[in-house]
Amino acid sequence: QLSARLATVGAFVPQGARVADIGSDHAYLPANLVLNQRISYGVAGEVVRGPFENARHEIAKLQLGGQLVARLADGLAAIQPADHIDTITISGMGGPLIRHILETGSAALTGVKRLVLQPNVGEATVRAWLMANQFKITAERILAEDGHTYEVIVADRSTDEVYYTDKEQLFGPFLVIEKSPVFVAKWQRELARSQAAVAQMQQAKVAPTAHLAAAQTKIQLIEGVLS
Ligand code: SAM
Repeated sequence: QLSARLATVGAFVPQGARVADIGSDHAYLPANLVLNQRISYGVAGEVVRGPFENARHEIAKLQLGGQLVARLADGLAAIQPADHIDTITISGMGGPLIRHILETGSAALTGVKRLVLQPNVGEATVRAWLMANQFKITAERILAEDGHTYEVIVADRSTDEVYYTDKEQLFGPFLVIEKSPVFVAKWQRELARSQAAVAQMQQAKVAPTAHLAAAQTKIQLIEGVLS
């Protein structure tokens, strides 16, 4: 049984896909997708030996070795041309790390049609990368589980021009329209955090910094969306 978070990521993997799950840890997601005959082939990539061994162990235990392979590799280096990967999932890490993984492995992205990304924080930087690399966001989800809020971003390779405003990059082009209760609660918390940060900077009476200006801009954006 997958967590709601991983199940949401898995729900956006196309039927019959060839998937690379990067930073797979126990390979729970690709193993579940193989068991449910959702994917025809999977690679579970891990850069750290312990989680890589977890993935290997899980694949052997479930006897999925014919369709799912664990590889010890940094980021997209886990993908080999013969894998013919068409879908990449990356979940449970920060947005800047997801962006770095996508950026440094661009050769492995040839042939990839869909990315399903679940950054724990820093979603805006992921959306900025997608925009700069011709991946169009086709769906988004926001969910709360175990006291955390998670966003899932689905992006497909596009030949159209892809453009997101600062507001769309921060909040998500779909999420900002949907404005679900989970979304509103997340941004109310973020607003309070940014307001406290600004108050602290103003109290310290330091000269206005780029940091302060950025926090003030963020407050304005959030207030605009929540109003
Ligand atoms: N994807 C699973 C999930 O969402 O539940 C596991 C998330 S776990 C918190 C993050 C995993 O990413 C860790 O096992 C870590 O070793 C792996 N990781 C971090 N940087 C990586 C990289 N550059 N390449 C591959 N794996 C990486």
